[in-house]
Amino acid sequence: MSNQLPQLDSKKLTEAHERLIKSANNDVFQDIKVRKARLKKLRSVLWEERDAIVEAIYQDFGKPKVETELTEVYVLRSKIKHTIRHLSHWTDYKKVPAPTSLLGISGYVKAEPKGCVLIIAPWNFPILLALGPLVSAIAAGNTVMLKPSESTVNSSRIIDQILRKVFSEDEVHLAEGGVDVSQFLLSRKWDHIFFTGGTKVGQIVMEAAAKYLTPVTLELGGKNPTIVHKDAHLKNAAQRIVWGKFLNGGQACVAPDYIFIHKDIYARFSELLIKELKTMYPDNGVSDLACMVHHRHYEQMKSLLNEALEQGAELLAGGNFNDNNRLISPTVIAKAKPTSAVMNEEIFGPILPITPYKDLDLLLADLQSEEKPLSFYFFSKSKRTMKKVIEKSRAGSTGLNVTTVQFNHPALPFGGVGQSGMGKGHGHWGFREFSNERSIVKQNLRWNALMLVKPPFSKFVEFVSRITMRWL
Ligand code: NAD
Repeated sequence: MSNQLPQLDSKKLTEAHERLIKSANNDVFQDIKVRKARLKKLRSVLWEERDAIVEAIYQDFGKPKVETELTEVYVLRSKIKHTIRHLSHWTDYKKVPAPTSLLGISGYVKAEPKGCVLIIAPWNFPILLALGPLVSAIAAGNTVMLKPSESTVNSSRIIDQILRKVFSEDEVHLAEGGVDVSQFLLSRKWDHIFFTGGTKVGQIVMEAAAKYLTPVTLELGGKNPTIVHKDAHLKNAAQRIVWGKFLNGGQACVAPDYIFIHKDIYARFSELLIKELKTMYPDNGVSDLACMVHHRHYEQMKSLLNEALEQGAELLAGGNFNDNNRLISPTVIAKAKPTSAVMNEEIFGPILPITPYKDLDLLLADLQSEEKPLSFYFFSKSKRTMKKVIEKSRAGSTGLNVTTVQFNHPALPFGGVGQSGMGKGHGHWGFREFSNERSIVKQNLRWNALMLVKPPFSKFVEFVSRITMRWL
């Protein structure tokens, strides 16, 4: 496969954009059967191309086959299945009850396509995070310009092959290329922009969208705190944290980022954590851990770890770097300084800092003063403590005694809050994000209560108005 990144071709992109606008105006996806047919086809092409997807992502950042099959192919196919199953219901007119004062009026909500939308995707789940939002956009009836990440060119080639088998150029256009392509697209007018990526680029996207008052969905990142309370099931907690943290080489927006462990169980839990890590990655991740996506990110991980160690952090496991393939062994550190970058910046790699805490309320109060995270995890056996923790924290999503799987639950909204993002994706929420929920009222032809309060405002009309204010 070619590793060449296509250059910005503004003429071609402008033509493609105009074509997509035209077919959105012609309502190319008005018929729900057409949307379902495209989604069914996409589902089957994903299955046909599964080996090519595995190979492409392996070429891009050495992701293990099983991880790609489960987190890219399976998750995406199950998302499509869920969407096809519920689409007729989501697109139906929804009748809403009317108050007595609107006697004779029926109210409805109808989801209609926003039009022509732009999706900008990151590299970390290159197929899932490009085609996942596309599924929601198509389900809602939009035409789509899709910009994949420039860091995973092999995956982009496969996306192109898949799209060409399913959609016409009037329905979906893939805009491969670098940041200049993204910036060019952002300078144009869209009916919605769905962006997944880092917070800084999210700000750029929002600024560009403001020019045309384009609505945006921002799926961003940040630090995901994880707390292991003293009454947690320690072995399960250790297993689920190691699994969630090192999946995709730690390059997942929902990965547990740093861990707080109650002081009473700190020593025992740290031992269990290292034991689990060695059980799951007996060869330091050589066989089963994804590599860093590019040199810049790899070097960033090195400097995060080196800074923490220089400032007195203790290396409990891992810490090996292979410059040839950008593989970093699963790494656990303790006693990182609270002011160090590893404790303040999103890590997005296989480095896990652990810290003891004494008092849960104080820890929760500290975390409340930080930016609101995309995800928050808590391990405990007590339902009461879980409830308290939910009430005293804020996050886009939360896992109780589990990590990362909230992303795969098709009936739950997924998205951030504050600095970790705005708007929601997945399932019905993703469909709604790409839809205009149009309000429709229909007046009964014979009977219209409003005519009781029409001018001239006689004593009778005043009486009706008073009754309305007081009782209806
Ligand atoms: P990124 O923000 O660097 O890039 C994302 C996209 O934005 C790419 O397609 C890129 O071409 C484009 N882009 C980059 N710089 C740009 C600029 N200056 N102007 C316009 N467009 C630009 O993100 P990434 O490195 O690909 O992904 C990692 C980040 O994404 C992490 O912070 C992670 O937490 C976040 N993320 C969030 C979610 C979520 O669902 N909330 C999912 C995956 C990743």
